[in-house]
Amino acid sequence: MSKTPGNLFILSAPSGAGKSSLIKALLERYQSDAQQQVQVSVSHTTRAPRPGEQDGVHYHFVDQDSFKSLIDKGVFFEWAEAFGNYYGTSKETIESTLQHGIDVFLDIEWQGARQVKEQISDACTIFIAPPSKQALLQRLTGRNQDSEDVIAGRMAKAEAEISHYHEFDYIVVNDDFDKALADIDAIVCSQRLRKERQVLRQKALFDDLLK
Ligand code: 5GP
Repeated sequence: MSKTPGNLFILSAPSGAGKSSLIKALLERYQSDAQQQVQVSVSHTTRAPRPGEQDGVHYHFVDQDSFKSLIDKGVFFEWAEAFGNYYGTSKETIESTLQHGIDVFLDIEWQGARQVKEQISDACTIFIAPPSKQALLQRLTGRNQDSEDVIAGRMAKAEAEISHYHEFDYIVVNDDFDKALADIDAIVCSQRLRKERQVLRQKALFDDLLK
């Protein structure tokens, strides 16, 4: 894909690192910014909706056959099998949104992040880590209603995701929520100001300044 005026941000984290809350807070912060529109891509998944999740809002929920036929049709920019389900990001959403100068945030796991980076080398990948194993365990234990096996399974999945932390451009440790939010905001701001992007975004300004 050629360079676009919009930036692509990828946020990955193990479950329990606070990624969803951080993304929600980031969007609230950016939604009032008239200069720069942002969008979170809505993925397709074969997993069942959780209570409160809406089709087309949290995910496009599809069955396995439909997902596989979307793969065959080349609909996905990236897709992966994770935790026994398929997840994928549609090409159209990403390409046309970025071409329109809108920043896109992807909430995807490491395999997807790797595939996107291979195709868009200036995509900005951010890994969010929990501050300690103890904190992760506490967050994954929830209300103590789950069996040890279930919690051990969640820990194993989290560790599998964490083992890829070094593949990302930036690493944010979510010890203090506000600090982690400020860290991601700083990354987003600096990415937006990179010359490669500004040359596209500020073309009219520089044409005028140098006329
Ligand atoms: P959950 O089922 O808890 O919503 O998501 C499980 C994992 O799948 C999370 O790490 C989430 O970031 C990841 N995920 C969600 N959508 C996509 C996608 O479109 N592609 C990939 N590769 N991962 C995704």
